Amino acid sequence: MGLADRRHEHLIVRAEVMKPPGPDDCKDIEQWMTQLILDIDMQILRDPSALYWPGEGNRGMTCDGLLTTSNTCLHTWDEVFPAMMEFDLYTCSCLPVETVIKAFDRFEPVKIEYKLYDRATGLVLIRESHPVIAESKPEQKCSFCWKPRAAVEAMVACWQEQFICNECVDICSNVLRQHGVRADVTRTR
Ligand SMILES: [Zn+2]
Repeated sequence: MGLADRRHEHLIVRAEVMKPPGPDDCKDIEQWMTQLILDIDMQILRDPSALYWPGEGNRGMTCDGLLTTSNTCLHTWDEVFPAMMEFDLYTCSCLPVETVIKAFDRFEPVKIEYKLYDRATGLVLIRESHPVIAESKPEQKCSFCWKPRAAVEAMVACWQEQFICNECVDICSNVLRQHGVRADVTRTR
């Protein structure tokens, strides 16, 4: 097959999910990406490699894999709720989009959008999703006092559906202060 006959398809996926990968899931995500590449009949040039970045404001997982003359990449952000996932897949074949979208099931998406481009002769949009939107987004509730988001001033997201409201943060700070523990040394990451 000559270069001119090849497809140059690029799939971009954006998902909002309830179960993003956490700091201990790097191996899991590498296996997930490996399986996905095999499921769409692409050849792995370099095994997928995942890292979890714990830095505030940019916390989440990044995983990439090299295919023969193409690549795939996943980024997640779990400080927002629902968590956000961005996925890229560039191939020189016809992409089975449904197979890729199905692979996101394990993250429990509440919304998935995609665009599929052909880059062989230009940037041509082949297909795009009508956003798959959940009927109602799950409500944020404080994991400590169970108050909903609307009842408090602020809500801090941990990962995977866990939150703490500003009132509970205050209570925790006071308790720690009473025990002589400074609040700024209570951070674990
Ligand atoms: Zn609370």
